[in-house]
Amino acid sequence: MPDLHMVVCVKVVPKSEEIRVDPETMHLIREGVRSEINPPDMNALEMALDLKDRHGGRVSLLSMGPPPFETYLQAALAMGADHVYLLSDRAFAGADTLATTYTLAQGIRKLGDVDIVFCGEESADGATGQVPSGLAEWLNVGQLTLLTNIEMDLKRGVARGHRELKGGYEILEVPLPVVVSVTTACNEPRFMDYRIKPWAFEAGRVTVWTAGDLDADENHIGFNGSPTVVSSLAEAPSRERKKQFLEGSPAEIAQLLLNVFREDLPQ
Ligand SMILES: Cc1cc2nc3c(=O)[nH]c(=O)nc-3n(C[C@H](O)[C@H](O)[C@H](O)COP(=O)(O)OP(=O)(O)OC[C@H]3O[C@@H](n4cnc5c(N)ncnc54)[C@H](O)[C@@H]3O)c2cc1C
Repeated sequence: MPDLHMVVCVKVVPKSEEIRVDPETMHLIREGVRSEINPPDMNALEMALDLKDRHGGRVSLLSMGPPPFETYLQAALAMGADHVYLLSDRAFAGADTLATTYTLAQGIRKLGDVDIVFCGEESADGATGQVPSGLAEWLNVGQLTLLTNIEMDLKRGVARGHRELKGGYEILEVPLPVVVSVTTACNEPRFMDYRIKPWAFEAGRVTVWTAGDLDADENHIGFNGSPTVVSSLAEAPSRERKKQFLEGSPAEIAQLLLNVFREDLPQ
């Protein structure tokens, strides 16, 4: 089989402490917030780079988002990926998961010879977890979700995924090409390689594709391709934490504590 070509879908998300929603538009506020690469996407990238270390091949990064994402993607490139593609066009704005997966799938189709598409299990902001399965549907290929590890049998052209279950694990085998989602913190992402950092941050290193480059159907992208409507927004009430100060000697406090436990714990 020719060299493995792996694509890692990478989303740039607001840092978790800065995630806020505009109550008027019901959209996430992305302007003026500090961002990072979605943490599980770093685990997906590590899994792909580890396969590259063991079997050779190449790793491409793929992201959909605005031009300021480039710098974050270049940092991921400096971890050892080979190429980076950013799908960026005003026509992609307002995309729900259906339009997002269509657009990413068109990018993967344009790359042409992809064997494995890696994703994180979910994003830190939208957190639907729908993108990996959506991609598999648009691309009409198999999927291995929520993996903690992957092995390749390149002679047979199959990927063998390892998925943790309650009290055990299962091994799933799927012929290539396949879409894989990776659980958060299943491995330890490597640091940026400072020898390749200057190359990764060279101007023009990120290939930007617009809707025209993707030959995308305008009915499937952005607002036009998004049937989802966010009809209302509600803040989850934060419950006051119960607290009680116990006074007395250590023995009295211990007795009082025992009484509290007896009252509060279900019998
Ligand atoms: C009505 C509506 C309008 C929206 N408008 C906008 C908008 O204008 N701009 C905007 O940025 N978002 C918008 N969103 C959010 C957008 O739909 C989601 O960001 C996107 O569909 C991904 O969904 P998710 O975050 O739940 O991904 P999940 O399914 O939770 O992500 C799983 C994995 O998929 C991959 N992935 C997800 N998104 C991307 C991406 N963009 N690029 C590369 N890989 C990815 C990553 O590997 C990630 O770990 C809108 C959502 C709705 C419902």
